[in-house]
Amino acid sequence: MRSATHAIIHLKALAHNVKQIRLRAPSSKLMAVVKANAYGHGLVRVAQALAGLVDGFAVARVEEGVKLRKSGLSERIVVLEGFVSEAELQYLLDYDLEASLHAFHQLTILTNTAPAPKALGVWLKIDTGMNRLGFKPSEVPGVYQHLIDLKNVKKPLHFMSHFANADDTQDPKTQTQLARFDELTFAYNGEKSIANSAGILGWPNTQKDWIRAGLLLYGISPFFNATGAELNLKPLMSLHSRIIAIREVAAGETVGYSSTWTSPTKTKLGVIAIGYGDGYPRQAKNGTPVLINDTRVPIVGRVSMDMITVDLGLQSSVKIGDKATLWGDGLPVEEIATWANTIPYTLVCGITQRVAMF
Ligand SMILES: *Cc1c(COP(=O)(O)O)cnc(C)c1O
Repeated sequence: MRSATHAIIHLKALAHNVKQIRLRAPSSKLMAVVKANAYGHGLVRVAQALAGLVDGFAVARVEEGVKLRKSGLSERIVVLEGFVSEAELQYLLDYDLEASLHAFHQLTILTNTAPAPKALGVWLKIDTGMNRLGFKPSEVPGVYQHLIDLKNVKKPLHFMSHFANADDTQDPKTQTQLARFDELTFAYNGEKSIANSAGILGWPNTQKDWIRAGLLLYGISPFFNATGAELNLKPLMSLHSRIIAIREVAAGETVGYSSTWTSPTKTKLGVIAIGYGDGYPRQAKNGTPVLINDTRVPIVGRVSMDMITVDLGLQSSVKIGDKATLWGDGLPVEEIATWANTIPYTLVCGITQRVAMF
């Protein structure tokens, strides 16, 4: 039985989105960021669809990298959080994964581990202002020298940093971060990477040897004032359910928990089988659009665990069983994120196990 509440992953859109990204960054290699289950779209199937289209992959955790390698990918895979133990280091070596090297703790593990037949590919991570992972600028020359002397580290070393505010094209912090990165790395000959999706589009001078694209691959815009479609991207995910009940209410009646909406007129409400138990955001406000038969109708009342309610209007011809689109083609996930006071990343990442994926 095909589950009524389901997401469709349009894998063909990946090739289109990759092409668009390459048009914007023609001189850089493309690292596809597929952490967090490929932003909720399915790690292995997305990565396999991207194999041959991109130059490498990035994941956050060691186990994500192992899963990718086991699925048969032969491209380079970078683990953005690196390792925290000797056991994790061993996995990186066994599965030929490269690591972000961002903390002295990791340097100690590498120094105390006897050189294996294989050496570790390393991206020295520099904290240029994000203050999350990475060595401080003043620490970089010393760490570089230490790594150069280690036999279990591949040479040359590569370099990366990460932007804090690249989605705001007016924010001078991005240029400051770039300048710090350039100053620290221009003399070294390894590969360099700093741009995420917002950097790739908003700050083309940050593209360097490797761009690290996540959101753009999935057809989603990193900017508040544009949708993926406006950037010539195609959304990878569409989320669907269907109408399971229709009821008439009189003016003055309320709907749902805490009675947050009162009907101003007599109207027909539609009940759709999707809620926060499926990953639909509970914070979606009254008015959040839902597509039913290509027409937008507003959510009224609270999102509950298994259901939402929409105002169909008294004249509506919508029937029980009609299909609803929560986001996807014709209804950008970016728009839903705005209605729910969040970012599109959390919506696509947050789809739960209950939702069938096709
Ligand atoms: C997640 C992540 C990316 C990709 O970010 P997008 O905004 O999705 O393009 C790039 N680099 C690092 C270090 C990340 O953690």
